[in-house]
Amino acid sequence: MLEELPTQEHPLSVMELSVVAPVFNEAGNLRIFVERLQKSIATLDISWELILINDGSTDLSMSLIRQLASEFSFVHFIDFSRNFGHPVAVSAGLDYAEGKAVVVIDADLQDPPEEIIRLYQEWKKGFEVVYAQRLQRNGENFLKKASASAFYRFLSWVTPFNIPLDTGDFRIMSRRVVEVIRNMPESQKFLRGQVAWVGFNQSYIQYERAERNAGSSAYSYRKMIRFAWDGITAFSTSPLKLVTVLGFITSFIAFVVGMYALYARYILQDYVAGWPSLMISILFIGGIQMIAIGIIGEYLSRIHINVQKRPLYIIKEKG
Ligand code: UDP
Ligand code: MG
Repeated sequence: MLEELPTQEHPLSVMELSVVAPVFNEAGNLRIFVERLQKSIATLDISWELILINDGSTDLSMSLIRQLASEFSFVHFIDFSRNFGHPVAVSAGLDYAEGKAVVVIDADLQDPPEEIIRLYQEWKKGFEVVYAQRLQRNGENFLKKASASAFYRFLSWVTPFNIPLDTGDFRIMSRRVVEVIRNMPESQKFLRGQVAWVGFNQSYIQYERAERNAGSSAYSYRKMIRFAWDGITAFSTSPLKLVTVLGFITSFIAFVVGMYALYARYILQDYVAGWPSLMISILFIGGIQMIAIGIIGEYLSRIHINVQKRPLYIIKEKG
């Protein structure tokens, strides 16, 4: 039944599958990556392409990409003028991918190319998105694992829709979902949030995330924090709500302390001159200010949401 929906058809697209892989200093991995991809996708017997996005690599990645493109007809590439960062590289890939289904995968072999088979087969069952959930993260230190895990849990807690836990960008998406994502004009890309936000029937497979083949992760802790913050602020206004709540709490404390200060001043007659008025005014003003910032923030967040110009809804099917 699902198979019959016009969901996975695109009149202009004859390509069955596009694989999009951002590349930043992956010279040591690219050849193995392409060969493993080719070997695994060959078993599917479909038309496919690989789009490599060179995100301002400073090593030999680009000349290797050119070489691979002349060797393998399925290899296409986009070369950025400089490093724009992983999320932007992925969006460029989505802009140029022609397939009825698009896979996003890392080029460092942490996402095993062989798993694309399972992603594709699951997608064929009629899902719009099939994401790959990590069972294990090999070769990453405790701090990275713990911070990633905390981030995913926090994000799913603060967002009103379901962002799957422990999934990176390794996933397959139908043309339809890709088009929706492409038409989201916001410049802070956060693919895993955007894809979850789109909705439709989504499924997942589980896999073991491998160690990086060669090179080192370009995601420093600073970049990871930036990334986490983008994810949280793009899909949630809870940090603002937190400020408002803190404002009310401070105001309440101010009130209690104020009552006590008045009690000490007039009933107990036990006070240091100036203390009650000072305490009351500091706490009171602090509380009022926080509430005010929170309220301003709420308005700002509405502007923020409108500036994003996301569509209000996405229709699955029309009768
Ligand atoms: N990458 C990129 N631009 C960057 C950093 C990374 O295109 O500025 C690519 C990188 O080549 C790899 C993928 O994005 O294919 C994931 O990067 P990385 O392995 O550094 O991240 P991690 O796996 O540690 O999260
Ligand atoms: Mg990696």
